[in-house]
Amino acid sequence: QGARDGVIDAFIGPQKHLTLDLLDAIDPLDLDEYIRHGGFESLKKCLTQLQPDQILDEVESSGLRGRGGAGFPTHAKWRTVRAQDSPTKYVICNGDEGDPGAFMDKVLLESIPFRVIEGMAIAARTVDAHQGIFYVRAEYPLAVERIRGAIDICQRGGILGDSVMGTDFSLKLQIREGAGAYICGEETALIHSIEGGRGTPRIRPPFPAESGLWEKPTLINNVETYATIPWILRHGGKELAKLGTKTSKGTKAFALAGKVRNGGLIEVPMGITIRQIVQDIGGGVEPGRTFKAVQIGGPSGGCVPAELADTQIDYESLSAVGSIMGSGGLVVLDDKDCMVDIARYFLKFTQDQSCGKCTFCRVGTRRLLDILDRLCTGAGKRGDLEQLEILSKSVCAGSLCGLGKTAPNPILSTLKYFRDEYEAHINGYCPAGKCIDLIDYR
Ligand code: SF4
Repeated sequence: QGARDGVIDAFIGPQKHLTLDLLDAIDPLDLDEYIRHGGFESLKKCLTQLQPDQILDEVESSGLRGRGGAGFPTHAKWRTVRAQDSPTKYVICNGDEGDPGAFMDKVLLESIPFRVIEGMAIAARTVDAHQGIFYVRAEYPLAVERIRGAIDICQRGGILGDSVMGTDFSLKLQIREGAGAYICGEETALIHSIEGGRGTPRIRPPFPAESGLWEKPTLINNVETYATIPWILRHGGKELAKLGTKTSKGTKAFALAGKVRNGGLIEVPMGITIRQIVQDIGGGVEPGRTFKAVQIGGPSGGCVPAELADTQIDYESLSAVGSIMGSGGLVVLDDKDCMVDIARYFLKFTQDQSCGKCTFCRVGTRRLLDILDRLCTGAGKRGDLEQLEILSKSVCAGSLCGLGKTAPNPILSTLKYFRDEYEAHINGYCPAGKCIDLIDYR
């Protein structure tokens, strides 16, 4: 028992739970319990004490940036929507979480649905929107059920509807279920999908904040971003800004997975290092194995080698080492993982999920995958690595949306830090012993 308690203490120790604090602490659909824990206090404050400009100032002083991956300043997006002169505006919660291994939004929607609704309602009040949509992937049936139940309870309890918490502010929320296309997490594709069209991105500008759903100003934030808002309004933006680094404030939830002893959903202060997450929270890799790298940001991210494990978790530091924050996928790799195979795995995912609109993304990722397939099956040849680099840069430059622009990241980062493994594959040898076809070539 003592050893187990030690593991739990180590797992929880460096974490800071702002959005996940009620996880497993309350019945997800018990409104009274949520209210007893301070729930909907922030919304009430925003409806009765604060003017929209004051709410915007709090969000700005918090330094909150979108947790869906791009890291755009939240207050700036909100200000743009608020500034639009339109009688109809929308707020959308992007719950189309699709990165392999990521489940932060799923857990938040399933466990603390009222908190996400509260954040969304505060956003709606701020930008003057009266209609909102949860876009949640259909593969999350429990999340859909809980959000649907929570909306229903809020409507019956006077927290949503024609008179939100007894004020003259009205808000109606509804749910749309995504059909499993990864690309529908991209804002403009998500809007097309809600409108009943094919989920394909479009050129921006205009940005959804100016012309989004049904060509009306539309605020889109992801689940974790909305879930952070009630805390900011309750404690003050400056309190959130005390956590983190100069440019990345607050906390970030990650799905810690892979070759780590203690995996799971974590929420850490920005500025924590990769090493602290892997060693202190995750307990390191299994005895006898060597920590090799982490893949952060899912298929759009990059591999950060163990030598750079003192890199801080913040938007700029991760970008400087060829990765991204992403939405929160964090996969730990050890010496048994083949980096060429890892790059192939993620590229296969993005290749499958390309909507096909742009040639560089549709065909370029296919050609990249052909080369990686060759390398992993012992058919690699001289010049393949140079081809990978040239083609990767072309796909990044010639693609319309983030999916194509970032698809080559796993290749470029592994080529940068593990080039020797690629060269070994050309010589018919997989150093990790993973690419089975290559073992015989040794
Ligand atoms: Fe579609 Fe890829 Fe072009 Fe994005 S980059 S619009 S996913 S083809």
